[in-house]
Amino acid sequence: MTAYLEHKDLANEKISPERATQIADGVHRTLEAVERATSEVGRYSGDVKLLAATKTRDVGEILAALDAGIRTIGENRPQEVQIKAEAVKRLAVAAGIDDLGFHLIGQLQSNKINKVIPWVDTIESVDSLAEATKIATRAISHERHLNVFLEVNESGEESKSGCDPTRAYDEALAIAALDGVSLTGLMTIGAHVDDEATIRAGFTHLRELRDRLLATGGDGLAQCRDLSMGMTSDMEYAIDEGSTIVRVGTGIFGERAFI
Ligand SMILES: *Cc1c(COP(=O)(O)O)cnc(C)c1O
Repeated sequence: MTAYLEHKDLANEKISPERATQIADGVHRTLEAVERATSEVGRYSGDVKLLAATKTRDVGEILAALDAGIRTIGENRPQEVQIKAEAVKRLAVAAGIDDLGFHLIGQLQSNKINKVIPWVDTIESVDSLAEATKIATRAISHERHLNVFLEVNESGEESKSGCDPTRAYDEALAIAALDGVSLTGLMTIGAHVDDEATIRAGFTHLRELRDRLLATGGDGLAQCRDLSMGMTSDMEYAIDEGSTIVRVGTGIFGERAFI
């Protein structure tokens, strides 16, 4: 079990009014920053969706973000999905929210697929045809249809998951042909460096890959439009490079107390 799951009750539903205000301020600040970055580069407001990255946050904290306007959340760990998803969905519906998007943005081992399939609508962290095939098979047996993104390791950093960029085009074509899942986007994590040009190069490369896939005109590829790229520290670059989903944790909820 991951250590922090012993420190914090992620199923907790009640947070202090001060904490709720802090989170609402984080959501509003981040939405404004997205809006500013979008208009500065001449893109349409609304082109870029803000996904709240909710790892290590409890149910009450997530609900505060939904109350403040978040409509898509992303969890990293299947175990956290299991602990939180039922309550988050139930409380969201009770609050009148019926359009909550629930993404998985972290690695998914085969033996955890069945645990997340009932809860998530999109798995952004698929790094191979083999993994996509397993998800598709399980989705069909659960009578679910899932959206998947191919995650590409554009920075080549060894600590990062994702498909090798040289294989990404072929993997994406094959994933798009599967039943049970739709390939609706590509995802990457920005290079962990200070150099703007290096960070941007990864984002540009992902956008070009998306454009090449769309240009094939293939059946399963017409929906492959989303580019999930950009986090708290690099979302302005990502938006300039064509991101359609930015995944923000720290900017909304503050620093994580544990990883
Ligand atoms: C944690 C995480 C984020 C958000 O990171 P912040 O720097 O806190 O905004 C985005 N994407 C993935 C895959 C993550 O694991």
